[in-house]
Amino acid sequence: MTEQASGQDKQCPYCAETIKAAAIRCRFCQSDLRASNREGTAAEGRSLGSPGPVRAGVVNARLNEQSANVVIGEFVLISVAIGLWAGSWLAGGGTLLALMCLMAIPALSRVLAVLLGIGWGAAGVAIGQFFGSTGASIVLGIIGLLGGIGGHLNAAQYVRDLGSE
Ligand SMILES: [Zn+2]
Repeated sequence: MTEQASGQDKQCPYCAETIKAAAIRCRFCQSDLRASNREGTAAEGRSLGSPGPVRAGVVNARLNEQSANVVIGEFVLISVAIGLWAGSWLAGGGTLLALMCLMAIPALSRVLAVLLGIGWGAAGVAIGQFFGSTGASIVLGIIGLLGGIGGHLNAAQYVRDLGSE
């Protein structure tokens, strides 16, 4: 960038080169500049194998989307379990709604991520003990704890991305 972008030029959001305002594809980095083309850009990011900051963000968003799908499935299971335990569909539905709302609030979603991570860690320890192995308990417990916290934080990020679009 040696001169300021005029009315006919704009800055590529991917490589910061100055390009024509009407361009739909950057002539420097070949990025697709049509807005809201998340799928296509993510596929390019993978095939080029050179994630710049923006591409990394897009790939992250897709990872977060997958985490969100897993977490929603987890929430449904937890809610069904609570509904069955309480003998009330209302309790199950309320639990599901409450969990979804918690995920949309940044501070509470972090608390929820840690709590559910501890839950997954405990599940890992229980599986290890089922097989009578202290080593497996420790390893599965740590994997459950870290994976649980990380997955829920990713999913919470996805929920916030949805809200900010
Ligand atoms: Zn570019």
